[in-house]
Amino acid sequence: MTTLAKHLLARIEAHGPMTVADFMAESLLHPTLGYYTTRDPLGAEGDFTTAPEISQMFGELIGLSLAQAWLDQGAPSPCTLAELGPGRGTLMADILRATRAVPGFHDAIHVHLVEASPTLREMQRATINTDVTWHNSIDTLPEQPLYLIANEFFDALPIRQFQRGGEGWHERLIAMREGALTFAFGPELPQPHLEHRLTDTVKDMIVETCAPAITTAAQIGGRIRDHGGAALLIDYGDWRSKGDTLQALKSHAFVAPLAAPGESDLTAHVDFEAIAQAAPCAHAPLTPQGVFLEQLGITPRAQALANRLEGPALNSHIAAHRRLTHPEEMGNLFKVLALFPPNGTPPPGCPT
Ligand code: SAH
Repeated sequence: MTTLAKHLLARIEAHGPMTVADFMAESLLHPTLGYYTTRDPLGAEGDFTTAPEISQMFGELIGLSLAQAWLDQGAPSPCTLAELGPGRGTLMADILRATRAVPGFHDAIHVHLVEASPTLREMQRATINTDVTWHNSIDTLPEQPLYLIANEFFDALPIRQFQRGGEGWHERLIAMREGALTFAFGPELPQPHLEHRLTDTVKDMIVETCAPAITTAAQIGGRIRDHGGAALLIDYGDWRSKGDTLQALKSHAFVAPLAAPGESDLTAHVDFEAIAQAAPCAHAPLTPQGVFLEQLGITPRAQALANRLEGPALNSHIAAHRRLTHPEEMGNLFKVLALFPPNGTPPPGCPT
């Protein structure tokens, strides 16, 4: 049993069952035992890998999309270049490298990173070669034009789960049985915020809500509406989430979500409809990652890079291109939601 599991069991014994959201928040961000607070989870030796760790092309194309949106909006200065949950800092480093040649962009921007993990902040400091301001939450980002990227950030935000009863809902909880963590259900209660889900669910079906995603989307969208900018929110999920999508990963394999709290990554699919509705600005139709990257020219970029490679390096480059774009790999599972100013146009890569 992990040390955090013991801590959670003691908490349940003292205070009763906890919500899935409390379990996720404690598992991921407990100050001394949390998954993200205590380790670098990425890469081959870690528990999972992400698009920017697979290829530099991902960050390059995102950088060019955001810089083009900045140019199209009249190159406002000063402005914010922000990333939510930057992991090792690889994506931001690639964005900055790719946009060096965009006239005036680097003079106009200041880089802001929203990162809760002290361990990952240290890695970001070492990777990103420029003056950076860190934030614990999005609330403190400056009120100015905002160009923002979030890759695999929203999937780590704590969700609550509700199982449909008759006209009400049973909240899924984490309880204790025979000295171990176990799932349980609360009593059936009305949930006014789930009224709209009574039309597309039947009894016993699970739906998920993510309050921090809603408040984050409201903050981003408010700044883009008031000051201009653009946001690219990339994650796995769909327009409307349905069913239990809570999952845990350890050493690149799925494990039971309650098996190793604090030592396995916990995520849930992102409900993009809820994010789009909470953002008080315009949004583009949800776009598969593969389509987004193709529209930004990943294939010619891949060919240009391939000319300089041979042997195993060339093979892994070809595999990386496929992994990012192919519908059977990340191309369709991952989606891009672009936010932009009311009456504006979406950043390049996204359909209008
Ligand atoms: N975007 C990176 C890393 C994804 S992992 C990549 O694509 O490689 C998730 C990141 O979000 C980590 O940096 C983690 O520490 C951070 N994170 C998770 N929950 C957070 C929260 N509530 N507030 C701020 N950062 C958070």
